[in-house]
Amino acid sequence: MKMRKCLICERGNLIKVVDIVLEIEGSLFIVKGDKCNNCNEEFPYEEETRRVMDSQIRQR
Ligand SMILES: [Zn+2]
Repeated sequence: MKMRKCLICERGNLIKVVDIVLEIEGSLFIVKGDKCNNCNEEFPYEEETRRVMDSQIRQR
């Protein structure tokens, strides 16, 4: 698999991580995504973010 470059610093590579902390409406969620090995910017996968959002909506 080809390494993807970070969009923020354009120097680091994105590595797969499984412990990105997302805070949505005061609740914390652990999601999968990519993380830059240079600037440490985290990019949660869109489908993961959506899954969390959906579960939040369903709880209302
Ligand atoms: Zn970066």
